[in-house]
Amino acid sequence: MTRAVPSRPCAGNRHNGNVGELIGMELADMEAALAPHYRKFHARKLFDAVYAQRDFDAEAIPEKVRGELTLGALREAGRYVSSDGTVRYLMELADGKTVETVFMTEGSRDTICVSSQVGCPVDCKFCLTALMGLERNLTAGEIVGQVLHVMREHGLKPKSRTMNIVLMGQGEPLMNLDNVLKATRILVDQRGVGMGERRICLSTSGLIPKIEELGQAEVRQRLAICLNDSHEAQRQEIMPITKKWHLAELLETCRRFPLKPKEHIFFEYVLLGGVNDSDEDAERVAKLLEGITAKVNLIPLNPGPGIPYETPAPERVERFQRILMRSVLCYVRKPRGRDIYAACGQLKRMSEQEGLVQIGAQA
Ligand code: SAH
Ligand code: SF4
Repeated sequence: MTRAVPSRPCAGNRHNGNVGELIGMELADMEAALAPHYRKFHARKLFDAVYAQRDFDAEAIPEKVRGELTLGALREAGRYVSSDGTVRYLMELADGKTVETVFMTEGSRDTICVSSQVGCPVDCKFCLTALMGLERNLTAGEIVGQVLHVMREHGLKPKSRTMNIVLMGQGEPLMNLDNVLKATRILVDQRGVGMGERRICLSTSGLIPKIEELGQAEVRQRLAICLNDSHEAQRQEIMPITKKWHLAELLETCRRFPLKPKEHIFFEYVLLGGVNDSDEDAERVAKLLEGITAKVNLIPLNPGPGIPYETPAPERVERFQRILMRSVLCYVRKPRGRDIYAACGQLKRMSEQEGLVQIGAQA
Protein backbone atom coordinates (compact mmCIF):
# COMPACT_ATOMS: atom_id res chain seq x y z
CA MET A 1 0.00 0.00 0.00
CA THR A 2 1.32 3.45 -0.84
CA ARG A 3 1.19 5.70 2.19
CA ALA A 4 0.86 9.45 2.36
CA VAL A 5 3.70 11.38 0.74
CA PRO A 6 3.85 15.15 1.42
CA SER A 7 1.74 17.02 -1.11
CA ARG A 8 3.31 19.44 -3.54
CA PRO A 9 2.59 23.05 -2.60
CA CYS A 10 0.23 25.04 -4.83
CA ALA A 11 2.40 24.85 -7.94
CA GLY A 12 0.76 27.61 -9.99
CA ASN A 13 1.25 27.13 -13.71
CA ARG A 14 4.97 26.75 -14.05
CA HIS A 15 6.69 23.52 -14.93
CA ASN A 16 9.86 22.92 -16.94
CA GLY A 17 11.94 25.81 -15.64
CA ASN A 18 10.57 29.06 -16.94
CA VAL A 19 7.87 27.87 -19.26
CA GLY A 20 4.38 28.89 -18.11
CA GLU A 21 1.30 26.82 -18.82
CA LEU A 22 -1.79 28.52 -20.18
CA ILE A 23 -4.35 25.99 -18.97
CA GLY A 24 -4.84 26.97 -15.35
CA MET A 25 -4.41 30.71 -15.94
CA GLU A 26 -7.22 33.15 -15.24
CA LEU A 27 -7.59 36.07 -17.66
CA ALA A 28 -5.54 38.37 -15.40
CA ASP A 29 -2.72 35.77 -15.38
CA MET A 30 -2.74 35.65 -19.19
CA GLU A 31 -2.68 39.44 -19.40
CA ALA A 32 0.36 39.46 -17.13
CA ALA A 33 2.05 36.69 -19.11
CA LEU A 34 1.62 38.57 -22.41
CA ALA A 35 2.18 42.06 -20.96
CA PRO A 36 5.73 42.72 -22.08
CA HIS A 37 4.79 42.16 -25.73
CA TYR A 38 1.02 42.31 -26.20
CA ARG A 39 -2.01 44.33 -25.14
CA LYS A 40 -4.95 43.04 -23.06
CA PHE A 41 -6.95 42.43 -26.21
CA HIS A 42 -4.51 39.67 -27.22
CA ALA A 43 -4.84 38.02 -23.81
CA ARG A 44 -8.63 37.97 -24.24
CA LYS A 45 -8.21 36.35 -27.66
CA LEU A 46 -5.89 33.74 -26.20
CA PHE A 47 -8.27 33.10 -23.28
CA ASP A 48 -11.07 32.53 -25.81
CA ALA A 49 -8.90 30.20 -27.92
CA VAL A 50 -7.83 28.05 -24.95
CA TYR A 51 -11.06 27.85 -22.96
CA ALA A 52 -13.96 28.70 -25.32
CA GLN A 53 -12.71 27.27 -28.63
CA ARG A 54 -10.50 24.70 -26.90
CA ASP A 55 -8.05 25.23 -29.72
CA PHE A 56 -5.04 23.18 -28.68
CA ASP A 57 -2.86 24.26 -31.60
CA ALA A 58 0.43 25.93 -30.55
CA GLU A 59 -0.26 28.52 -33.29
CA ALA A 60 -2.95 29.98 -31.02
CA ILE A 61 -0.15 31.30 -28.77
CA PRO A 62 1.11 34.75 -29.91
CA GLU A 63 4.47 34.38 -31.62
CA LYS A 64 6.67 36.45 -29.33
CA VAL A 65 5.77 34.39 -26.25
CA ARG A 66 5.85 30.90 -27.76
CA GLY A 67 9.18 30.19 -26.09
CA GLU A 68 7.83 31.14 -22.67
CA LEU A 69 4.33 29.74 -22.78
CA THR A 70 2.96 26.33 -23.51
CA LEU A 71 -0.60 25.10 -23.49
CA GLY A 72 -0.16 22.56 -20.67
CA ALA A 73 -2.83 20.15 -21.92
CA LEU A 74 -2.94 16.72 -20.28
CA ARG A 75 -2.08 13.59 -22.23
CA GLU A 76 -4.56 10.76 -22.35
CA ALA A 77 -2.70 7.66 -21.19
CA GLY A 78 -5.67 5.31 -21.51
CA ARG A 79 -9.41 4.94 -21.62
CA TYR A 80 -11.91 2.28 -20.66
CA VAL A 81 -15.47 2.21 -21.96
CA SER A 82 -18.26 0.63 -19.89
CA SER A 83 -21.20 -1.31 -21.26
CA ASP A 84 -23.39 1.57 -19.95
CA GLY A 85 -21.46 4.14 -22.03
CA THR A 86 -19.45 5.60 -19.13
CA VAL A 87 -15.85 6.36 -20.09
CA ARG A 88 -12.97 6.29 -17.59
CA TYR A 89 -9.93 8.24 -18.73
CA LEU A 90 -6.46 7.85 -17.34
CA MET A 91 -4.87 11.27 -17.66
CA GLU A 92 -1.12 11.77 -17.49
CA LEU A 93 0.33 14.80 -15.72
CA ALA A 94 3.57 16.60 -16.56
CA ASP A 95 5.55 14.57 -14.02
CA GLY A 96 4.28 11.25 -15.40
CA LYS A 97 1.78 10.60 -12.59
CA THR A 98 -1.76 9.70 -13.62
CA VAL A 99 -5.25 10.49 -12.34
CA GLU A 100 -8.69 9.40 -13.43
CA THR A 101 -11.48 11.40 -15.01
CA VAL A 102 -14.89 9.90 -15.73
CA PHE A 103 -17.46 10.94 -18.34
CA MET A 104 -21.08 9.91 -17.91
CA THR A 105 -23.99 10.73 -20.15
CA GLU A 106 -27.67 10.10 -19.56
CA GLY A 107 -30.61 11.60 -21.43
CA SER A 108 -29.92 15.30 -21.91
CA ARG A 109 -27.34 15.50 -19.13
CA ASP A 110 -23.57 15.00 -19.21
CA THR A 111 -21.43 14.71 -16.11
CA ILE A 112 -17.66 14.93 -15.82
CA CYS A 113 -16.17 13.56 -12.62
CA VAL A 114 -12.71 15.02 -12.03
CA SER A 115 -9.88 14.32 -9.59
CA SER A 116 -8.46 16.95 -7.26
CA GLN A 117 -5.43 15.01 -5.95
CA VAL A 118 -3.31 12.08 -7.10
CA GLY A 119 -4.64 9.43 -4.70
CA CYS A 120 -6.22 10.48 -1.42
CA PRO A 121 -4.82 10.84 2.11
CA VAL A 122 -8.19 10.11 3.77
CA ASP A 123 -8.50 6.56 4.95
CA CYS A 124 -12.15 5.62 4.28
CA LYS A 125 -12.45 1.86 4.68
CA PHE A 126 -14.95 1.37 1.83
CA CYS A 127 -13.01 3.28 -0.86
CA LEU A 128 -10.40 1.93 -3.27
CA THR A 129 -8.77 5.34 -3.81
CA ALA A 130 -7.79 5.31 -0.13
CA LEU A 131 -5.45 2.40 -0.84
CA MET A 132 -3.28 4.69 -2.98
CA GLY A 133 -2.49 7.15 -0.19
CA LEU A 134 -1.74 10.71 -1.29
CA GLU A 135 0.87 11.32 -3.97
CA ARG A 136 0.27 15.03 -4.46
CA ASN A 137 -2.22 17.84 -4.97
CA LEU A 138 -3.27 18.73 -8.51
CA THR A 139 -2.72 22.26 -9.80
CA ALA A 140 -5.68 24.34 -10.99
CA GLY A 141 -4.43 23.70 -14.54
CA GLU A 142 -4.47 19.95 -14.04
CA ILE A 143 -8.05 20.10 -12.73
CA VAL A 144 -9.25 22.30 -15.61
CA GLY A 145 -7.18 20.21 -18.06
CA GLN A 146 -9.24 17.11 -17.23
CA VAL A 147 -12.46 18.97 -18.04
CA LEU A 148 -11.12 20.42 -21.29
CA HIS A 149 -9.93 17.02 -22.48
CA VAL A 150 -13.33 15.38 -21.94
CA MET A 151 -15.15 18.36 -23.49
CA ARG A 152 -12.98 18.09 -26.60
CA GLU A 153 -13.34 14.32 -26.87
CA HIS A 154 -17.13 14.43 -26.63
CA GLY A 155 -17.76 17.81 -28.30
CA LEU A 156 -19.49 19.14 -25.17
CA LYS A 157 -21.00 22.62 -25.09
CA PRO A 158 -22.28 23.73 -21.68
CA LYS A 159 -24.66 26.24 -23.24
CA SER A 160 -26.51 23.74 -25.43
CA ARG A 161 -26.80 20.74 -23.06
CA THR A 162 -26.88 20.28 -19.31
CA MET A 163 -23.33 19.70 -18.19
CA ASN A 164 -22.29 19.01 -14.61
CA ILE A 165 -18.83 18.80 -13.13
CA VAL A 166 -18.38 16.89 -9.89
CA LEU A 167 -15.16 16.89 -7.88
CA MET A 168 -15.66 13.29 -6.86
CA GLY A 169 -12.72 11.58 -8.54
CA GLN A 170 -9.48 10.82 -6.76
CA GLY A 171 -8.77 13.03 -3.77
CA GLU A 172 -10.25 15.10 -0.98
CA PRO A 173 -10.89 18.46 -2.70
CA LEU A 174 -10.97 20.48 0.52
CA MET A 175 -7.35 19.50 1.18
CA ASN A 176 -6.51 21.34 -2.05
CA LEU A 177 -8.99 24.17 -1.71
CA ASP A 178 -7.00 27.04 -3.29
CA ASN A 179 -6.42 25.13 -6.52
CA VAL A 180 -9.94 23.75 -6.60
CA LEU A 181 -11.39 27.25 -6.21
CA LYS A 182 -9.10 28.68 -8.87
CA ALA A 183 -10.15 25.90 -11.27
CA THR A 184 -13.79 26.74 -10.58
CA ARG A 185 -13.28 30.46 -11.25
CA ILE A 186 -11.76 29.52 -14.60
CA LEU A 187 -14.55 27.07 -15.50
CA VAL A 188 -17.36 29.54 -14.74
CA ASP A 189 -15.77 32.45 -16.61
CA GLN A 190 -18.33 33.19 -19.31
CA ARG A 191 -15.58 34.41 -21.66
CA GLY A 192 -14.15 30.90 -21.63
CA VAL A 193 -15.63 27.50 -20.75
CA GLY A 194 -18.81 29.21 -19.53
CA MET A 195 -20.07 26.69 -16.97
CA GLY A 196 -22.89 27.68 -14.63
CA GLU A 197 -21.61 28.02 -11.05
CA ARG A 198 -24.47 25.87 -9.76
CA ARG A 199 -23.43 23.04 -12.08
CA ILE A 200 -20.15 22.38 -10.25
CA CYS A 201 -20.23 20.33 -7.08
CA LEU A 202 -17.54 19.33 -4.62
CA SER A 203 -17.75 16.36 -2.31
CA THR A 204 -15.89 16.19 1.00
CA SER A 205 -15.36 13.74 3.81
CA GLY A 206 -16.17 16.67 6.14
CA LEU A 207 -13.19 18.92 6.94
CA ILE A 208 -15.00 21.47 9.10
CA PRO A 209 -12.63 24.50 8.93
CA LYS A 210 -12.32 24.08 5.15
CA ILE A 211 -16.11 23.90 4.73
CA GLU A 212 -16.26 27.25 6.54
CA GLU A 213 -13.55 28.65 4.27
CA LEU A 214 -15.42 27.40 1.20
CA GLY A 215 -18.56 29.17 2.40
CA GLN A 216 -16.69 32.48 2.33
CA ALA A 217 -15.49 32.14 -1.28
CA GLU A 218 -17.14 34.48 -3.75
CA VAL A 219 -17.14 31.88 -6.52
CA ARG A 220 -17.43 28.33 -5.26
CA GLN A 221 -18.80 24.89 -5.93
CA ARG A 222 -21.93 23.44 -4.41
CA LEU A 223 -21.27 21.37 -1.35
CA ALA A 224 -21.76 17.63 -0.92
CA ILE A 225 -20.94 16.00 2.41
CA CYS A 226 -19.97 12.37 2.62
CA LEU A 227 -22.11 11.48 5.67
CA ASN A 228 -22.16 7.68 5.53
CA ASP A 229 -23.20 7.00 9.11
CA SER A 230 -25.47 8.42 11.77
CA HIS A 231 -23.60 6.86 14.64
CA GLU A 232 -20.44 8.68 15.77
CA ALA A 233 -18.46 5.59 16.86
CA GLN A 234 -19.26 3.58 13.74
CA ARG A 235 -18.63 6.57 11.48
CA GLN A 236 -15.18 6.86 13.03
CA GLU A 237 -14.58 3.22 12.24
CA ILE A 238 -15.45 3.45 8.55
CA MET A 239 -14.02 6.98 8.14
CA PRO A 240 -11.19 7.31 10.68
CA ILE A 241 -10.68 11.00 9.77
CA THR A 242 -13.97 11.75 11.51
CA LYS A 243 -12.32 11.14 14.88
CA LYS A 244 -11.12 14.70 14.37
CA TRP A 245 -14.24 16.19 12.78
CA HIS A 246 -17.27 15.19 14.83
CA LEU A 247 -20.74 14.61 13.47
CA ALA A 248 -22.59 17.14 15.64
CA GLU A 249 -20.11 19.89 14.81
CA LEU A 250 -20.19 18.97 11.11
CA LEU A 251 -23.97 19.25 10.99
CA GLU A 252 -23.85 22.53 12.90
CA THR A 253 -21.37 23.85 10.30
CA CYS A 254 -23.80 22.77 7.56
CA ARG A 255 -26.65 24.60 9.29
CA ARG A 256 -24.57 27.77 9.26
CA PHE A 257 -23.26 27.33 5.69
CA PRO A 258 -24.23 30.41 3.66
CA LEU A 259 -26.45 28.97 0.92
CA LYS A 260 -27.35 30.90 -2.21
CA PRO A 261 -30.98 31.12 -3.43
CA LYS A 262 -32.38 27.69 -4.35
CA GLU A 263 -29.19 26.01 -3.16
CA HIS A 264 -29.13 23.01 -0.82
CA ILE A 265 -26.40 20.78 0.60
CA PHE A 266 -26.11 17.24 -0.74
CA PHE A 267 -25.49 14.49 1.76
CA GLU A 268 -23.99 11.33 0.34
CA TYR A 269 -24.52 8.07 2.11
CA VAL A 270 -22.68 4.95 1.00
CA LEU A 271 -24.84 1.99 2.00
CA LEU A 272 -22.78 -0.86 3.45
CA GLY A 273 -24.85 -4.04 3.75
CA GLY A 274 -25.60 -4.93 7.39
CA VAL A 275 -23.46 -2.05 8.68
CA ASN A 276 -25.25 1.28 8.21
CA ASP A 277 -28.37 0.35 6.22
CA SER A 278 -31.00 -0.50 8.86
CA ASP A 279 -34.36 1.24 9.33
CA GLU A 280 -33.00 2.74 12.56
CA ASP A 281 -30.03 4.16 10.64
CA ALA A 282 -32.40 5.81 8.16
CA GLU A 283 -34.50 7.27 10.98
CA ARG A 284 -31.39 8.64 12.69
CA VAL A 285 -30.15 10.21 9.42
CA ALA A 286 -33.53 11.92 8.97
CA LYS A 287 -33.28 13.31 12.49
CA LEU A 288 -29.70 14.52 12.02
CA LEU A 289 -30.63 16.47 8.90
CA GLU A 290 -33.53 18.34 10.51
CA GLY A 291 -33.18 22.07 9.93
CA ILE A 292 -30.71 21.72 7.04
CA THR A 293 -31.70 22.51 3.45
CA ALA A 294 -30.60 19.12 2.25
CA LYS A 295 -30.92 16.47 -0.42
CA VAL A 296 -29.61 12.96 0.12
CA ASN A 297 -27.86 10.73 -2.40
CA LEU A 298 -27.77 7.08 -1.40
CA ILE A 299 -24.89 5.17 -2.97
CA PRO A 300 -25.10 1.38 -2.64
CA LEU A 301 -21.51 0.18 -2.13
CA ASN A 302 -19.51 -0.32 -5.30
CA PRO A 303 -17.39 -3.34 -4.49
CA GLY A 304 -13.66 -3.69 -5.08
CA PRO A 305 -10.76 -5.99 -4.20
CA GLY A 306 -9.79 -5.54 -0.56
CA ILE A 307 -13.00 -3.68 0.39
CA PRO A 308 -14.41 -5.56 3.40
CA TYR A 309 -18.09 -4.64 2.91
CA GLU A 310 -21.07 -5.83 0.91
CA THR A 311 -23.55 -4.11 -1.37
CA PRO A 312 -27.02 -4.18 0.25
CA ALA A 313 -29.93 -5.84 -1.53
CA PRO A 314 -32.06 -3.51 -3.71
CA GLU A 315 -35.08 -3.95 -1.39
CA ARG A 316 -33.01 -2.69 1.57
CA VAL A 317 -31.91 0.35 -0.42
CA GLU A 318 -35.49 1.06 -1.42
CA ARG A 319 -36.72 0.78 2.16
CA PHE A 320 -33.96 3.09 3.41
CA GLN A 321 -34.90 5.62 0.75
CA ARG A 322 -38.60 5.41 1.62
CA ILE A 323 -37.93 6.22 5.27
CA LEU A 324 -35.79 9.21 4.39
CA MET A 325 -38.28 10.48 1.82
CA ARG A 326 -40.73 11.20 4.64
CA SER A 327 -38.66 14.22 5.58
CA VAL A 328 -36.02 14.93 2.93
CA LEU A 329 -35.59 14.52 -0.84
CA CYS A 330 -33.57 11.40 -1.36
CA TYR A 331 -32.20 9.79 -4.53
CA VAL A 332 -30.42 6.51 -5.14
CA ARG A 333 -27.32 6.95 -7.28
CA LYS A 334 -27.17 4.44 -10.10
CA PRO A 335 -23.82 2.70 -10.32
CA ARG A 336 -22.14 3.90 -13.49
CA GLY A 337 -19.23 2.07 -15.07
CA ARG A 338 -18.78 -0.57 -12.37
CA ASP A 339 -17.47 -3.03 -14.99
CA ILE A 340 -14.51 -0.72 -15.74
CA TYR A 341 -13.91 0.45 -12.15
CA ALA A 342 -15.30 3.89 -12.89
CA ALA A 343 -18.02 4.05 -10.23
CA CYS A 344 -17.82 6.06 -6.97
CA GLY A 345 -14.95 4.90 -4.80
CA GLN A 346 -13.44 2.63 -7.45
CA LEU A 347 -10.83 4.99 -8.90
CA LYS A 348 -7.48 3.38 -8.27
CA ARG A 349 -5.93 3.10 -11.70
CA MET A 350 -7.35 -0.37 -12.18
CA SER A 351 -5.87 -1.45 -15.48
CA GLU A 352 -5.04 -4.31 -17.83
CA GLN A 353 -3.31 -6.14 -15.00
CA GLU A 354 -6.70 -6.44 -13.34
CA GLY A 355 -8.17 -7.95 -16.48
CA LEU A 356 -9.62 -4.79 -18.02
CA VAL A 357 -9.38 -4.09 -21.73
CA GLN A 358 -8.10 -0.65 -22.58
CA ILE A 359 -9.08 0.96 -25.84
CA GLY A 360 -7.94 3.92 -27.83
CA ALA A 361 -5.00 5.08 -25.71
CA GLN A 362 -3.26 7.95 -27.46
CA ALA A 363 0.44 7.85 -28.21
N1 SAH B 1 -13.04 12.47 -1.42
C1 SAH B 1 -14.29 13.06 -1.67
C2 SAH B 1 -14.70 12.93 -3.12
C3 SAH B 1 -14.42 11.61 -3.79
S1 SAH B 1 -15.32 10.24 -3.19
C4 SAH B 1 -15.34 12.49 -0.74
O1 SAH B 1 -15.09 11.48 -0.10
O2 SAH B 1 -16.41 13.07 -0.63
C5 SAH B 1 -16.90 10.54 -3.92
C6 SAH B 1 -18.02 9.74 -3.30
O3 SAH B 1 -17.80 8.34 -3.49
C7 SAH B 1 -18.20 9.95 -1.81
O4 SAH B 1 -19.55 10.24 -1.54
C8 SAH B 1 -17.83 8.61 -1.23
O5 SAH B 1 -18.53 8.32 -0.05
C9 SAH B 1 -18.24 7.68 -2.34
N2 SAH B 1 -17.59 6.37 -2.27
C10 SAH B 1 -16.34 6.07 -1.88
N3 SAH B 1 -16.13 4.74 -1.96
C11 SAH B 1 -17.27 4.18 -2.40
C12 SAH B 1 -17.67 2.85 -2.73
N4 SAH B 1 -16.83 1.83 -2.60
N5 SAH B 1 -18.93 2.65 -3.17
C13 SAH B 1 -19.78 3.68 -3.31
N6 SAH B 1 -19.45 4.96 -3.05
C14 SAH B 1 -18.22 5.21 -2.60
FE1 SF4 C 1 -10.72 9.89 -0.10
FE2 SF4 C 1 -13.30 10.33 -0.66
FE3 SF4 C 1 -12.24 7.86 -0.90
FE4 SF4 C 1 -12.62 8.91 1.52
S1 SF4 C 1 -14.23 8.40 0.02
S2 SF4 C 1 -10.75 7.85 0.80
S3 SF4 C 1 -12.16 11.06 1.16
S4 SF4 C 1 -11.69 9.64 -2.10
